[in-house]
Amino acid sequence: MLLRQSVTLCVNVSRWHRQGPSLLLSVCRRSVATGSAAIHEPLHFVDGRRVLPLNSNSNDDFEVLEPATGQPLCTVRSAGAEDVDRAVLSAKAALQKWSRLSGMERGKILRQTAIVIRSNLEEIVQTEVHDTGKPIWEVRADIEACADTMDYMAGLAPTIVGEHIQLPKGSFAFTKREPIGVVGAIGSFNYPFQMSLWKSAAALACGNTVVFKPSEKTPLSCVLLGEAYSEAGLPEGCYNVVQGEVKTGGLLTSHPGVSKVTFTGSVPVGAKVMEACAKDIRKVTLELGGKSPLIIFEDADLDNAVKGAMLANFLAQGQVCSNGTRVFVQRSIMGEFLKRFKARTEKMKIGNPFDEQTTVGAMITRRQAENVLMFIDIAKKEGARVVCGGEIVTFDNELSGGIYISPCILTNAGDQTTIAREEVFGAVATVFEFDTEEEVIRRANDTEFGLAGGVFTKDLGRAFRVASEVEAGVIYVNNYNVYPSELPFGGYKKSGIGRENGRAVIEYFTQIKSVYVEMGDVDCPL
Ligand code: NAD
Repeated sequence: MLLRQSVTLCVNVSRWHRQGPSLLLSVCRRSVATGSAAIHEPLHFVDGRRVLPLNSNSNDDFEVLEPATGQPLCTVRSAGAEDVDRAVLSAKAALQKWSRLSGMERGKILRQTAIVIRSNLEEIVQTEVHDTGKPIWEVRADIEACADTMDYMAGLAPTIVGEHIQLPKGSFAFTKREPIGVVGAIGSFNYPFQMSLWKSAAALACGNTVVFKPSEKTPLSCVLLGEAYSEAGLPEGCYNVVQGEVKTGGLLTSHPGVSKVTFTGSVPVGAKVMEACAKDIRKVTLELGGKSPLIIFEDADLDNAVKGAMLANFLAQGQVCSNGTRVFVQRSIMGEFLKRFKARTEKMKIGNPFDEQTTVGAMITRRQAENVLMFIDIAKKEGARVVCGGEIVTFDNELSGGIYISPCILTNAGDQTTIAREEVFGAVATVFEFDTEEEVIRRANDTEFGLAGGVFTKDLGRAFRVASEVEAGVIYVNNYNVYPSELPFGGYKKSGIGRENGRAVIEYFTQIKSVYVEMGDVDCPL
């Protein structure tokens, strides 16, 4: 771990074994007091430890700002070609040993990693809040769920088996599920620890090794995952991290040593990743954006439906791929629904993400915030009415450099308007009225995306009809945005290819080998 090599570095993000108050916690206290935390540890991770980048070009440096305060967290040198090579070679070397372990042996190490994560939970949480600006209780719930996912993948590993197939005259065949090889994994900024964990835990459970590139906006917590893996006994090189922006992502997706790419991000970048992989017929999983419908029928339990709409729109400052940003409400309950939805939204507490009472933290970057405000502006110009929110909220304390936006509800938007069709990736819910089931299903499906959808109703027949008709990879009946590890997650249409979580990951992180065994003489008419 870096602790052993951090001679010139002033703040340790990791300290699994340190006694007494955590250095990181003292960084956090400093953050609240002065508006800045400083990370000086190397953030590249190869051969089981943090390493300095090989790239000597300072033009490849990028600065990471703390969303809550707008203050610099660290400057990171992007991985160049030699860095990506080093990480891929490390993963390739590790593959020799890791892929030959039994599922049970791999599972034991993953289960131990879950234990290490749980026993260092608060440090990971604090780091993630610095990195993302999300409310601390929300991050805590996410990291706890990540430990569960690690446990799930630990249990999945020994269940990966093939088939036995009886053939004529006593001959037979069997299939094996073999790992694909080195997996290049790329994450988006909104759930950084989850991205690194969902992708790597599934890939490792299936016997692959991993090179992960986080978003350049949130580079910190994936390295803590690396240290947790090392602590748990994962062999060196099985999980590596290269930091960087677009260029580093491109180097990873086109590296000849990478056999599979798993990517989470926007549709346009996903298309570029797929194109890069197509050149070498590299396998690819894509987890992309959405514009999901949440449908609320007049017989729904209204309080639960309002809670569902909150969860569908306002977690993580609205920066959630599966958000149900098109809220369809049956006409007879529209007035009452809007009244309750607005009241609850206006009660949200905007502020310091380290405060346990905060429910709206900071936007990830000024650019992302400007994008959200631009969408609200266009919506207004195209005829939408603002029910509440959509304003910049300023502070005259240590948060003054962060960007905070009050959660926004819009109505009166047409189905063909920009706000109804494009992913905003911010806390903007647009509420539409509908009359009939048939009409709402047609309108819900009138989108190029298909990540998620939700329906609130007490009529189970209707719930199941809607669940079958809505074209999306995940449908919630009477709830929204819950992600049990057992449930495959992924998109229809432009929202993606492949699945994360559940047994489905076996399909995407293994390849089938068929072995034919002849028990008689060779029948050769030649
Ligand atoms: P983004 O597409 O801008 O970036 C994602 C990642 O791709 C980053 O690590 C970035 O450095 C990298 N990248 C950029 N250009 C690249 C290239 N040419 N080759 C390889 N890598 C490249 O996305 P973002 O702004 O970080 O995240 C928001 C998007 O992610 C939203 O569209 C959201 O819906 C989507 N998302 C999807 C899921 C899902 O599971 N479906 C989950 C979270 C986020």
